[in-house]
Amino acid sequence: MTLRTPAVSALMAAALVAGPTLADPATAAPGSTVGADSLGDPYFPRQGNGGFDVRHYDIAFAYDPGSRQMTATATLTAVATQDLSRFSLDFMGPTVSAVTVDAVAAAFSRDDDKLFVTPKSVLRNGRTFTVAVSYAGEPGPMYDPDGSIEGWVPTDDGAFVVGEPQGSARWFPGNNHPTDKATFTFRATVPDGTTAVGNGTLVSQSTRSGWTTFVWESREPMATYLATVTIGKFIISESTTPGNIPVYTAVDPRLAKRAAPMLAEIPDIVDYFSSVFGPYPFSSTGAIIDYAPQVGYALETQTRPVFCDVPSDAIGTIAHELAHMWFGDSVSLTRWSDIWLNEGFATYAEWLWSEHTGGPTAQKLFERTYAPDKKPFWDVLLADPGVLDMFDYPPYDRGAMTLHALRVKVGDEIFFKILKEWTRSYRFGNATSADFIRLAERASQQNLGSFFDAWLYRTGKPTSW
Ligand code: ZN
Repeated sequence: MTLRTPAVSALMAAALVAGPTLADPATAAPGSTVGADSLGDPYFPRQGNGGFDVRHYDIAFAYDPGSRQMTATATLTAVATQDLSRFSLDFMGPTVSAVTVDAVAAAFSRDDDKLFVTPKSVLRNGRTFTVAVSYAGEPGPMYDPDGSIEGWVPTDDGAFVVGEPQGSARWFPGNNHPTDKATFTFRATVPDGTTAVGNGTLVSQSTRSGWTTFVWESREPMATYLATVTIGKFIISESTTPGNIPVYTAVDPRLAKRAAPMLAEIPDIVDYFSSVFGPYPFSSTGAIIDYAPQVGYALETQTRPVFCDVPSDAIGTIAHELAHMWFGDSVSLTRWSDIWLNEGFATYAEWLWSEHTGGPTAQKLFERTYAPDKKPFWDVLLADPGVLDMFDYPPYDRGAMTLHALRVKVGDEIFFKILKEWTRSYRFGNATSADFIRLAERASQQNLGSFFDAWLYRTGKPTSW
């Protein structure tokens, strides 16, 4: 499901990106139509594939935490957006045994992080097709340019599964860029006594000869990086918020006591954010508190953020991750360089929660963050922080300060109107910094050019705006 059709042709897009392009001579043959093996994102130029739009992922697997072996079949339903004689998927998982397209065996080959599929006959533009990939072996973690670990991270009792910005391809094949969102079904079979916690709604749980299958449905579109099926021994709790949103939480028994206060806040946080950001976008919420200390961060996995431990600022962090349901998960990035649209907004939401609950006000937190003349901090360009600084302080803190400065400039009434219009206009879609500026200018009837110039498009500490 993508709301944005790539404007460039397959061959153009392939030519635009650095790195290996379509070297196969078949690519250039007249009448041949090969899907681009990239969507041209400057930070992750190998991510994503052109020529089709994924609508649904059905990922069925069995995983044994003891041997760390997985046996899986991922079935993607997609629509061709051009005639396709061949297309690619992002995949860095274990050995592929078979690929079918519309249940007919297809030729396939792998090259590094890509799986190339050649269907038996050309898929015509506009046609809906299914591609099923069967694979088995050991999925695993991977390391990002900034050194962080993600993907399929084995734990002592299962696996901690996160994919921002790349790791989903370590455990399922897909179109791994936030612009191609889709609905998901996960069918996870794990040893009895172990729980597999996915995104969305648990639709069934059944045990047979020592194995339990958990079926999770994510009925609202989701970017691949937000997918999780985190596995382990968990204490499960189900409830609903006062606003009637189902809550499913899973906590590692070893952390249950320390995690209790943050889990207890979820209903109030979700309902408060619904009142300031607009209706909660998804049909379920919750959290997964696992123990994977080597990871060191939490992730806003859709409907159900995942934590690798109880964070030191537990309340701030759960508020942050839940705010991402609106900012990042429902309204998603078009390109990774706009990461402040995720992290700045989620950080500002922490400030709003603090203000709402009688802690330091957003103004106070702005002042605290603005005061220090830290050198590398103010030198990062918010509109383009660079792939190494995506998850460093600037997108979070300068991003939050940008929003607070905007609030002061346009006043509370217009500022909160902007936030609500943002989540409504781009719900389940993708947006850019330019989209935000346009919306803010329209809602405030002000020219905000020099304001956003100072905060987004220039380095240095803004001193007047
Ligand atoms: Zn965040």
